[in-house]
Amino acid sequence: MAKTGFLPKEKIKDFLDALSKDAQVHVPVKEGDIVAFKPYSADAEICLTRPANTSPKAVIYPQCDKLLSFEYTKDPEDNKKTSITLSDKRDYPNAVIFGCRPCDAKGFTIFDKVFVTADYVDPYYREHREKTTIISLACETPFAGCFCVAVDGGPADKVGSDVLMTDVEKGYYLESLTEKGDKVLSLPMIQEGASYQAAAQKIQTEAAAKVKNPLPKGATEKVNPTLFDTDEFWQQVAAKCISCGACTYLCPTCYCFNITDEAARDKGERIRTWDACMFQHFTLETSGHNPRPVKSRRLRQRVGHKFAYYPEKYDGVIACCGCGRCIRHCPVSVDISEIVGYLKDPGQDPKTWIERNTKAAKDGSL
Ligand code: SF4
Ligand code: SF4
Repeated sequence: MAKTGFLPKEKIKDFLDALSKDAQVHVPVKEGDIVAFKPYSADAEICLTRPANTSPKAVIYPQCDKLLSFEYTKDPEDNKKTSITLSDKRDYPNAVIFGCRPCDAKGFTIFDKVFVTADYVDPYYREHREKTTIISLACETPFAGCFCVAVDGGPADKVGSDVLMTDVEKGYYLESLTEKGDKVLSLPMIQEGASYQAAAQKIQTEAAAKVKNPLPKGATEKVNPTLFDTDEFWQQVAAKCISCGACTYLCPTCYCFNITDEAARDKGERIRTWDACMFQHFTLETSGHNPRPVKSRRLRQRVGHKFAYYPEKYDGVIACCGCGRCIRHCPVSVDISEIVGYLKDPGQDPKTWIERNTKAAKDGSL
């Protein structure tokens, strides 16, 4: 049974200070109109009233991560002989992600299946992951674009979190879900939580009922293969996309990357950086051939990866946690839940859909 506790709101700073003693603590900070995860500091304006614009994935999967350093040395006696020294020494700090949402925490479990497998373990990801404690805050109300309930999640989903917090007015009801969570609940400012359990349960149940499910056939129904393979459908839905890549960079489950060597003279570093399937150059081959030369193919790949290819490979698990960020922050309002809604409706006839949308585009109602 989960251990429980209560964190009074006036003790949050003490709590974060205590966590900061042996970890880098990342909190959602409001700067202007943007809320983004930043290292905690006493003067940070922490925002827990709405989900951050960015996901916290950079804490465990940095946007730019050094994999190794290298150095060439020429033999002074024989200039045709060169040796290379490699070092992949790393010493990542302990980290805490505080105040992310349950969908963000679930996102890391989607990364886990790719980066920590029976056949291959990505040591960089694994070390960051093992050293990070995730303290999520249950959502009381859905935000624009949220559809977690349609993809096997929910506003108080516990998957991926070490501690789940629920706002019960004067403080937060805490549920520990792992050993890391138990350690958090043993901090001295955490009070007895059992008396807040019923209130928290009520808030969680009411919140779940408020989240809309835009997928008519639910999470487990397969996509309509006819519509999926229709080029015209993808040209229509991708027509307004400007290939900015914001959807992928903000997504807690997108993990495409590129690896480059950055060198000056005889030393350098091998760096892994985020990349995105929505960029034209992502699939550009050295020969000049590009298997996904147009944005309709790239959007099809992004949606297909999350709702068809990943589930096919990983026991039906959908690689989208329904956080809604790609919908909220897409500059031209491309809506993945709407696209998947069409794809999951086996009754959708591609021709009818295309005709209806062409007409709607012409008369301005699209
Ligand atoms: S955020 Fe919108 S416009 Fe930008 S790449 Fe994604 S779908 Fe296209
Ligand atoms: S695809 Fe969109 S809704 Fe799904 S997890 Fe990524 S950003 Fe969130």
